[in-house]
Amino acid sequence: MQFHILTIFPEFFRGPLDFGVLRRARQSALVDVQTHDLREFTSDRHRTVDDRPYGGGEGMVLKPEPVFDAVASLGVAPVGERSARRESVVLLSAQGQVFRQSVAHELAGMDRVVLICGRYEGVDERVNELLCNRELSIGDYVLSGGEIAAVVIVDAVVRLIPGVLGNADSSRFESFGVEEGVGEATSVGGGPRVTHGAGGLLDYPHYTRPAEFRGAAIPEVLMGGDHHAIRRWRRRMALTKTLRNRPDLLSGATLSREDEAILEELRLAGASGEPE
Ligand code: SAM
Repeated sequence: MQFHILTIFPEFFRGPLDFGVLRRARQSALVDVQTHDLREFTSDRHRTVDDRPYGGGEGMVLKPEPVFDAVASLGVAPVGERSARRESVVLLSAQGQVFRQSVAHELAGMDRVVLICGRYEGVDERVNELLCNRELSIGDYVLSGGEIAAVVIVDAVVRLIPGVLGNADSSRFESFGVEEGVGEATSVGGGPRVTHGAGGLLDYPHYTRPAEFRGAAIPEVLMGGDHHAIRRWRRRMALTKTLRNRPDLLSGATLSREDEAILEELRLAGASGEPE
């Protein structure tokens, strides 16, 4: 899969893409990330990429010409043919649709994704209207530029590409995971597998050694080796966290009758969420 990032700060991407999963994915050739300097697509002596806003007001606006020329240089299909060609041209914008895990899954199914990073007051709207098939925001706050948003999107999408994570289950059964995790646990090597925050919930809490740290012991159930009890505890904790931190996710989650009963119990207990 290819990412093309259009930016006035290509140097910004030295570093964020060079660690961990992203670095390995790029080295394994499963993912190719190329940055393109928008100033390379200007024709004046000063390599001007911005201009004053029509109608007056604060700040400057990224000009359309360098962005159009940069996208043209990539040979991307016209808007109407993009999904058939598995290509997407995305404007990063605080005014965009919110980038969620479901959108990350959609983008992971593409062969080529172009990410356009805005700066200043934003990008001339004709880029959005005529060139992009998507306008995405990474959250309800305003960044100084689209570069950080581009890194967030590349990271979230890359880990969903088959073969990138050593264990494919890592990206299936985690927070916001779309897989249903409410059935009986499937056992691999004696350990519980389908156990937790899948089906649209947040993940459950994780612990590692030491078993006691600064007076806080890990939950006893995790020491016992009873995989059924561990699975139930993890599910309960996923429900607890989701109820406490992101109750909005519950309406879209896949919940069993047992889950509903736990939620009812948690609500009656004032959502403190402490297991019995
Ligand atoms: N005037 C714009 C507004 O109020 O919506 C904010 C422009 S912002 C200072 C400059 C650039 O940062 C935007 O063009 C966009 O590319 C990027 N940006 C800012 N917030 C973002 C967000 N939440 N998600 C994605 N990109 C964002």
